Formats: sequence, structure tokens, C-alpha cells
Amino acid sequence: MKKLAIILPCYNEEEILPHTIKKMRALLSDLIKRKKVAKDSRICFVNDGSRDQTWPIIQKACAEDKLFCALNLSRNFGHQGAILAGMYDVCADIYVTIDADLQDNPDCIAQMLEKIEEGCDIVYGVRDSRHTDSFFKRTSATLYYRLLKLLGVNIVYNHADFRMMTRRAVETLKQFPERNLFLRAIVPLIGFKSARVYYDRTARQAGETKYPFCKMVALAWNGVSNFSIVPLRLVTFLGFFVCFLSVVFLCFVVYRWSVRGTIVGWASMVTIITVFSGVQLVSLGIIGEYLAKVFVEVKKRPLFIVEDKIGFNEESQDC
Ligand code: UDP
Ligand code: MG
Repeated sequence: MKKLAIILPCYNEEEILPHTIKKMRALLSDLIKRKKVAKDSRICFVNDGSRDQTWPIIQKACAEDKLFCALNLSRNFGHQGAILAGMYDVCADIYVTIDADLQDNPDCIAQMLEKIEEGCDIVYGVRDSRHTDSFFKRTSATLYYRLLKLLGVNIVYNHADFRMMTRRAVETLKQFPERNLFLRAIVPLIGFKSARVYYDRTARQAGETKYPFCKMVALAWNGVSNFSIVPLRLVTFLGFFVCFLSVVFLCFVVYRWSVRGTIVGWASMVTIITVFSGVQLVSLGIIGEYLAKVFVEVKKRPLFIVEDKIGFNEESQDC
């Protein structure tokens, strides 16, 4: 029987954690009882530098039940880093990552296990609908997935970070040494046989989102710039287009000069200067964004630093 590790990244989740602990304990106990997974399967909380009571709550749960183990990161590394910490530091045969607020239906884990049994290495949890999201989130997400597709980024529509992976897939993921993380687009690059499991995403039961607008935009931009060079190409095309426009404009100026003499007007000049300066600055900005990515990548700083570990016995350390 295979050992399952359920990884839950947690950042300031004190309100929801007691409920999550109860639900996940019941779920894993049931899977073990039904002999779907090995007895030493674990639920691993990754505390991503929380400032509230999240870590003490996790410590208490680990002390009370051997089903739980935990990693405490030295500071906040972000959702993607926390997920990686769990997958890279826990030893198991199968990994599933799920948000600590359980908005993604954990009951799908049994279904995901069946897909792994059938020979898949990756199972994507995919939202059936987005009716619990706000209008803004729903529309922006749909447009964003469309944009990624247009830019040639291979991404599973409506899949976030609820996914199951075999150890083989996780080991392969380690060959992607990227610092700018956007796992939902990296994982499909692994290949292997994959499947999808559909579920209804519920609203958050307690606490508030840890993905405010600016973090969401940063993650979205990572999705575009980590996987597509189309924006850079657009800059080149824009350059050609602007050159073409200036030639047309030049012809127009020569024509006006020959017909009615030179027009002395500042309005047209100012308009042209502003438009072209804008285009140049935006182009420089896009190039700068990619340069910044290279800057971050070459330094190869750690994606996460584990400060404490609870509930790891020696045999599970050498995976
Ligand atoms: N999270 C994290 N580090 C962060 C931000 C979020 O580990 O810096 C975790 C958070 O605790 C949750 C998951 O990532 O388990 C997803 O966050 P959230 O539910 O707030 O995102 P949303 O569902 O609103 O997109
Ligand atoms: Mg959530």
C-alpha cells in the first residue's frame, strides 16, 4: 500500500485550522481504514511564516495525533514555496497539495487515488464552476486563462494548486530549478500520464483570503512572463509598427509642406512625442521585467528555508 502525504500550506489560518484539522484527520483515518493508503500516511502542515496562532495550533495537533506532521518555514515564502517545501521535505509515495481553507473539496482525494491506481502520475483538481467567486475574480480568471492559452502557455483550465502527484513526478519536478514559481504551469511541463478530477469549489468558511489583489497580479504576471516570450516579441512588432507609422507620417508632412507649406503647430508634435515616449517606456518596462527575472534566477536563492520540523521520524527522513 502506498504512503500518502497531504500537504497544506498555511499562512495566518488560525480561524479555519481547527475545522481543517478535524476534517483532514477524519478523511485520512477513513482512507487508512478502507486500506486505500498505507498506515504511515501523513497530513503535513507547512507554516509559511504566520504571525497569528497558526503554528501553536499546528504544534498542538501534532502532539495529539501521529497522523500529523509539520514544517515551520523561517519566514513567509509565499504559497508556491510552501507547497514545494512540503513536497520536497516529506517522504511519501503519493503527494496531494490542498489549501488549508479546504475550499477545494478534500473528498476528491479518494477519486484522485483511483486515478493514480490506474497508472497516472499527476491528477489535477479542476473546479467545475466558479459561482462562489466574486464577479471580478470569476471574470478576471476566465480572461486570464484565455490570455495564457493565446500566449502559448500550457495550463489546465480552472486548475489551481489542488493536485496529486506520485513520487516520480515530484522527483522530476525537482529538475525545474526555477525561482519564479508558477507551479500550475510548470507541472504540465513534466509530462507523464495525467487525469482530471472535477469538483465544486466552496466559499471560504473562516478567515480571509491571503491572496490580496497585488499578490494575485504578481502571480498572474509570473504565469505570463515565466512561460511566454510573446510580450517581448510584441515589443519588437510594436517597434516595427511605430516605424511604419512614422514613415506614413513623414510622407504626410512632406505632402502638406509641398501643397500648403509647413504647418507650425505644437499639438501634433506634442501628441506624437507623448505617444512614442509612452510606447518606448512600456517597451523598456517589458524588457526590464524579463531582465529582472534573469536577475532573480541567477542568484538561485532558496525557495524555502525550514526552521523546525515536527512529527518526522528518522525512517521517513531518508526518502
Ligand atoms: N498561503 C501561504 N502563503 C502565503 C499566502 C497563502 O501558504 O503567502 C496559503 C493559505 O494559507 C492557503 C493557500 O495558500 O492555504 C491559498 O490561500 P487563500 O485561500 O487565501 O487564496 P484564495 O483561495 O483566496 O485564492
Ligand atoms: Mg482559499
